[in-house]
Amino acid sequence: MSAATIEFDHGISAIDTGFFRPQFDASHLIVHNSRAAFVDVGTNYSIPRLLEALAAKGVGVDAVDWVILTHVHLDHAGGAGLLMQQLPNARLVVHPRGARHMIDPSALIAGATAVYGAAEIERSYGTLAPVPAERVVQASDGHVVDLAGRELLCLDTPGHARHHICIWDAMSRAFFTGDTFGLSYREFDTDKGAFIVPTSTPVQFEPDALHASIDRMLGFEPQQMFLTHYSRVTGVERLAADLHESIDAMVAIARAHAHDSARHARIAHDLGELFVTRSQAHGCALDVEHVRELLAMDIELNTQGLEVWLEKQSKQ
Ligand SMILES: [Zn+2]
Repeated sequence: MSAATIEFDHGISAIDTGFFRPQFDASHLIVHNSRAAFVDVGTNYSIPRLLEALAAKGVGVDAVDWVILTHVHLDHAGGAGLLMQQLPNARLVVHPRGARHMIDPSALIAGATAVYGAAEIERSYGTLAPVPAERVVQASDGHVVDLAGRELLCLDTPGHARHHICIWDAMSRAFFTGDTFGLSYREFDTDKGAFIVPTSTPVQFEPDALHASIDRMLGFEPQQMFLTHYSRVTGVERLAADLHESIDAMVAIARAHAHDSARHARIAHDLGELFVTRSQAHGCALDVEHVRELLAMDIELNTQGLEVWLEKQSKQ
């Protein structure tokens, strides 16, 4: 098994997709009764790693029944079309609002190009392959995916994106949370456990919905969460409380600078201060520069997402 794959109980493993940096972006593989499902897949460039991890577990490509996408942001879903070409029996599970973007990725590419720029899209994601419509299953709230008798329950969980599902696996008492339960990089772990940061990536950040989605998941009394960035966290109640506090703080920062001519720079600056302060309070020994470096991309994306949210507020 590759060092980039982490094995957990209940047939769950986390495969490092190789996107951006080590332990940044995970694809989770669930193997049950010799059948398999992927949850999130990384980008086109991740697919060889996923197939290698599958082979290393002795699971054939024809034994993969499901490719489940938490949402269609490209670090989660960019490789889905290419992966589906390699998995003859798999069906793609995606939120009804995300389905058409997997069948015809052109709008998705245009949206991501608006956020990241054309050169970065080509370099980081390559050309997205469409998924044939007949292989796409739309997962509305309450949809159950049957993995060889193991029920995976899809919940509609807006807040990070309006096309987001989180997947409840009763067997492991875990949610696969995509980006709804924030980001938690392992470099920040201390003896208190994980450090967690919400993500407000453009263009559908909705703080009230995000609070509600987090609370709804807590109602299942999960013992662990599998985040795409990065994999398993435990101590879910504390992390949920931390997320609620940070979401409120992020919204307050955005509001404070709503009418500032240097709005972007000031929001980004204050988010940096917020996350540095909170990571230090958590006991992280990383120096401030390292914290800022690890969170630089998220701070930029969170800033952009908060600005989009502010613009929407001002139009209401
Ligand atoms: Zn996302």
